[in-house]
Amino acid sequence: MGTEDAFAELGLASSASEREVKAAWRRLASQWHPDRNGSADAVARMQRINQAFEEIRRAGFQAAAKERGADSGAAAAASAAGTGCASDEHDGDPAAFRDDADTARQRRPIHRKVKLTLEEAAAGCIKVLRGKVIETCRTCAGAGHQVLGGHCIQCGGSGAVPKRSFFGWPTGLVECEACLGGGIARQPCAACRSTGKAAPRSYQIKVRIPHGVRHGDLLHVDGRRLRPERLPGDLEIRVELLDHAFFELDDDGTLRCEIPVDGFAWIAGRQLQVPTLTGLQSLQLSRGRLSYCLKGEGFPSERGGARGDQWVTVAPVFPEQLSTDQQILLDQLCATTSGAGGATDDRLQAWQRGLRAWERGLRG
Ligand SMILES: [Zn+2]
Ligand SMILES: [Zn+2]
Repeated sequence: MGTEDAFAELGLASSASEREVKAAWRRLASQWHPDRNGSADAVARMQRINQAFEEIRRAGFQAAAKERGADSGAAAAASAAGTGCASDEHDGDPAAFRDDADTARQRRPIHRKVKLTLEEAAAGCIKVLRGKVIETCRTCAGAGHQVLGGHCIQCGGSGAVPKRSFFGWPTGLVECEACLGGGIARQPCAACRSTGKAAPRSYQIKVRIPHGVRHGDLLHVDGRRLRPERLPGDLEIRVELLDHAFFELDDDGTLRCEIPVDGFAWIAGRQLQVPTLTGLQSLQLSRGRLSYCLKGEGFPSERGGARGDQWVTVAPVFPEQLSTDQQILLDQLCATTSGAGGATDDRLQAWQRGLRAWERGLRG
């Protein structure tokens, strides 16, 4: 029996809500239950009613929800026809039903975090993720029970049992708990102990991280395309960039680092080994210059984009205490630029002339 036929069997439009379906089933069950109805086709009719109900339940009442979402007029018409109650708790919320569908439950994303070094994020990398997933029980397809086919023993297939007052008088019908109103015999699923979920499964998968990802980026990976094993849902991977010992990262991909250098080596214009994201590089120090740009050695400006620049700022360091040798050498060095004959540099000579003139002026 298809879902369309099932709705027809219960005398409902396919846009009927869960509550409308249950109400229609309850009404028909009390009319056709073999205990109450002596006609020859009562048993067969009751079976069809139960089959229809089970079919719609199995579809997760999804068809109804979808229909309602597409055409709320149909739902209004169904309500007006007097089949049930307009205040269905799921009304106007198709998402609640979609969640009930097996496929949607399987595709629910698996949230993971990956922590990357700046080097890994800049170049892109492959990360191995390990974890556990809980999948739907295959034996019962997540229902937690297996339908046996015959009549439910508790209610004789009607899906309803008499409700009794405090004094034991029958006061109407309530849904049979053994078959949840379906009227069809069912047994708890032994494979999953009625939870509908399989035992947790360990997984180990490889994920390719594109180059240039930033802290907080969300990467979406189709669970069916994962290797070496698939996952029941897609992966939502949140990127975390680890702090770097040397580098600071700007939004535009510029990478900055500050390096202490030997002040004498800086004056002497020596070569300096500086760290970049791809390894050490030589930098020619220049006397008097503190900032240096390494073109294209920064971080990608955007995901998948070209790399920005790296800026190196050097901080020359001089000894706090000079050794005797160092003091002698420095004295010799000073003598070459500002010895007894005065300063040799034009700028220094000009300054010294100005200073002397100013001093004479003070004395009048
Ligand atoms: Zn199961
Ligand atoms: Zn029952």
